[in-house]
Amino acid sequence: MNQSSLIPTEIRRNGTAGITIRWPDGALVSLPSEVLRRGCPCAECRERRGDTSHAKPLTGKKRALTILESTAQEELALQEIWGVGQYALGIRWGDGHSSGIYPFSLLRELGSESGEKRS
Ligand SMILES: [Zn+2]
Repeated sequence: MNQSSLIPTEIRRNGTAGITIRWPDGALVSLPSEVLRRGCPCAECRERRGDTSHAKPLTGKKRALTILESTAQEELALQEIWGVGQYALGIRWGDGHSSGIYPFSLLRELGSESGEKRS
């Protein structure tokens, strides 16, 4: 696959509500915060979603972390975005969560998915 076709030409942050991405093929795709947060690719969120495609620790032990529940409003408030190299976007949320690094290929997938559901 041609990597350059997966690098957005423009990323616009829509306040805390999400982002809009323009792709090299001209497609303009809006990604609401909810879609982005649900699609967070970090290990913690994948585990929370029960996503078994992520490799589980061999011990199967629960981490002894104190999880502070945040309000949905905080979780879905996009606070900051930044570029990660030439391949991904980092996002920080209102609850402080920022370990999700979104490869452009994932953003492209999330965008088409939400588009199909809406049609
Ligand atoms: Zn996450």
